[in-house]
Amino acid sequence: MKYCIFSDVHGNLEALEAFFTDIKGIDDLLLVFLGDAIGYGPNPNECLELIRGRVDYFLMGNHDQAALDVADISNFNPYARNAILWTRRMLKDAHKDFLAGVEYEARHGRVTFVHATPCQPDRWHYIFTVYDAQLNFHCFSTQICFIGHSHQPITIIRDDHSQQLKVLVDTKVAIEPGKRYIINDGSVGQPRDGNPMGCYVLFDDDAGTLEFRRVAYDFKKTQRKMIEYGLPEYLIERLEFGR
Ligand code: ZN
Repeated sequence: MKYCIFSDVHGNLEALEAFFTDIKGIDDLLLVFLGDAIGYGPNPNECLELIRGRVDYFLMGNHDQAALDVADISNFNPYARNAILWTRRMLKDAHKDFLAGVEYEARHGRVTFVHATPCQPDRWHYIFTVYDAQLNFHCFSTQICFIGHSHQPITIIRDDHSQQLKVLVDTKVAIEPGKRYIINDGSVGQPRDGNPMGCYVLFDDDAGTLEFRRVAYDFKKTQRKMIEYGLPEYLIERLEFGR
């Protein structure tokens, strides 16, 4: 079984289309979306349409949840809040109805999927410290857990015997017995690791190998649309630098 894991598209249609082109021709992929289809970017409806039509799993992200009119967004920073209020106005009711029923966690084979953290998938915490990571390894029972949310592609490995942690930013990772993994899949539509190219993960369960892939896209086109819609300047600029 091969998995393709992606997340944090954030209404960026150009990045999403480039991603789908990149995985075209890879057969028998289980396509897993870890949330945040919308928020920030100029094409929330188009992105939701495309993702919903293609994926095997669609998990809830904090921006997806925030787009529901009932959600509390007082903890969002001003840029994100501005973009979410704009997204709420733009988003079709049918998409809001769909998002209202989306799950926060999924499990398949030896893998768990969530948007933020396995400990509280609906609370939107981040894994920033060794302590956060150690805590979260106790919150899922499978060998591997994929997360999104921070837009930082990293792999955290915990050795079963020594209980030591190791953090990798390698683009290729071997999954080994006796170890457990929390893997952040990066972001398709708003990378923040200094690389403006979209990021996603291919995981070959049989071979036990995992690869972070990068996809270039026409961010200038996305930026032009954001200018046209009057979205915050900071959100427009960051696409160019991947930050
Ligand atoms: Zn996000």
